[in-house]
Amino acid sequence: MSTIPKDTGTPAKVTHTDAEWREKLTPQQYHVLREKGTERPFTGALAENHETGNYHCAGCGALLFLSGAKFDSGCGWPSFVIPADSKAVNEHEDNTLGMRRIEVTCARCGGHLGHVFPDGPRPTGLRYCINSASLNFTREGDPK
Ligand code: FE
Repeated sequence: MSTIPKDTGTPAKVTHTDAEWREKLTPQQYHVLREKGTERPFTGALAENHETGNYHCAGCGALLFLSGAKFDSGCGWPSFVIPADSKAVNEHEDNTLGMRRIEVTCARCGGHLGHVFPDGPRPTGLRYCINSASLNFTREGDPK
């Protein structure tokens, strides 16, 4: 079992055994978050979501992205110009599949979220291309 400590500004680690992750997550969430899978473009629930609210990690609940940073990239995955907090995500070089990409993971639970590409709009010029399966959306004003 694990506990999620109070938010102190620096993400505390959340760890589970593989069996616990399999129990906690749907098969698709498990595939994306724990096996670095990618949902097919235009199939995720949140790519076309335009509501105001917050995007949390589907693995651990950490706040990852805000609706104000979301933009229509046309790529088929939810796309953001910046994370909710620079400490919310980690970025790693990923040279799989014959490409040089930067993988984005949840800083709290280590779950795979997607990749960040240098072809986004201003002000950052970045496109955080994130799987819907890695995210839970909370509409502003709704109870958590
Ligand atoms: Fe997480």
